[in-house]
Amino acid sequence: MSLQDAIAEVLLDETQIQTRVRQLAQQISEDYADQELVMICLLRGSVFFAIDLARQLPNRLLLDFMAISRFGDPRETAGVVRIIKDLEENITGKPALVVEDIVDTGLTLRYLLKNLEARNPQSLHVCTLLDKRARRIVELPLRYVGFEIPDKFVVGYGLDHKQLYRNLPFIATLKSPPSA
Ligand code: 5GP
Repeated sequence: MSLQDAIAEVLLDETQIQTRVRQLAQQISEDYADQELVMICLLRGSVFFAIDLARQLPNRLLLDFMAISRFGDPRETAGVVRIIKDLEENITGKPALVVEDIVDTGLTLRYLLKNLEARNPQSLHVCTLLDKRARRIVELPLRYVGFEIPDKFVVGYGLDHKQLYRNLPFIATLKSPPSA
């Protein structure tokens, strides 16, 4: 079966995504005009979004990566995550921007922000492509949000199901989504 055959509905097409990425980049470039920004990209889901965003930013920018592993359903594990690849940049005293693919319950991000705050960056903000607000358990300040989406499991543009579908240029639902 091809990737396309598994798609139920395209929620956000390539043009919608790229238009919004340009708008977000415009906002970010104004907010960080004269600052050297550390952009923190979370592996692997945020890679496509972070790279497209970075390409649109005229700012002085350091791009760094972090990989975390989640233990099962974050609602049951209170979002306990393990850092499997840490940043290489020291963010102390620097403006840092976390780039996320999707914020769902918010538990994973809360853990991550706590960890990063302890390193005393000059500022710490979040840019997420997708916001599944309906499922939020913990409120978090999301400075930049691409799109608010309904409570549906989505894939594409970095988001996976069993490591597949990340390379689709759009965001879509699956005919057979994982059971919630
Ligand atoms: P949270 O701790 O906010 O519940 O978890 C967010 C993480 O759950 C995301 O970074 C992503 O890995 C995963 N996730 C949440 N919703 C979806 C979804 O609709 N599709 C995919 N592929 N992953 C999701």
